[in-house]
Amino acid sequence: MKRLLLTSILVIMMSLGVFFISENNGDKFEIVSIKENKNYNNKNIKIPILMYHSINDNDPENKMVLPINMFKEQMLWLNDNDFNSLTLDEAIMALENDLIPENPIVITFDDGYVDNYENAFPILKENNIKATFFVITNFVGDGYYMTADMLKEMQSTGMEIENHTIDHARLSLLSRENIYNEIKGAQEFLRDNIGVRGDYLAYPFGWYSNKVINIANELNIKAAVTIQKGKISYKSNRYKLKRIEVDPMSIEEFEKLLS
Ligand SMILES: [Zn+2]
Repeated sequence: MKRLLLTSILVIMMSLGVFFISENNGDKFEIVSIKENKNYNNKNIKIPILMYHSINDNDPENKMVLPINMFKEQMLWLNDNDFNSLTLDEAIMALENDLIPENPIVITFDDGYVDNYENAFPILKENNIKATFFVITNFVGDGYYMTADMLKEMQSTGMEIENHTIDHARLSLLSRENIYNEIKGAQEFLRDNIGVRGDYLAYPFGWYSNKVINIANELNIKAAVTIQKGKISYKSNRYKLKRIEVDPMSIEEFEKLLS
């Protein structure tokens, strides 16, 4: 009976144009992120990509580390204000197909710290928010960093796991061969261990060059994010996507970042 009711609700919602990005995989959690699938066809629309690193209470002086309650407050605020979280892949597809939902936002985490799984993941789930995690593949499972099982679990609930190279080297300083190996090696790791393509790249330390971009393109990287500040739009170069770094700040400052 419950199942029948759920199925009917799903059919009605789908006929109304409610767009489901991912389904649950057996537990109660389900991300229904895009609340309305409207085609605004607005070439001026901009999408903010937020950049986080660590979420924990152990390092209050470090601006790359956000206290758990502050992160929670921010995700609650996004939920209360009807933001539609997209993975980076969904955001790029939305830009290419003129299908950007109202209040779009992309949440990204760099490096793959274990606190992303322990502290951020439960808060993201509570608020039906999805995120993209750029992991350094040689560090996966190495104490401070998430294990392959954690990454797989997050991926199965709609989170996106992407490429932050194998060693976190400053790519623009490397030889052509080493740049190739850094990106390709991470793609292979992600394919073999997580079952994803790893075709979106975050440049370690934000360092890139034309040579890096050419190699990324050769390796079928669809888009790459930097640490330059700004939002993305139709006009953005796919290999130079800007982001907005979130340091410890008040909720009023957070609101201002997105305005
Ligand atoms: Zn990094």
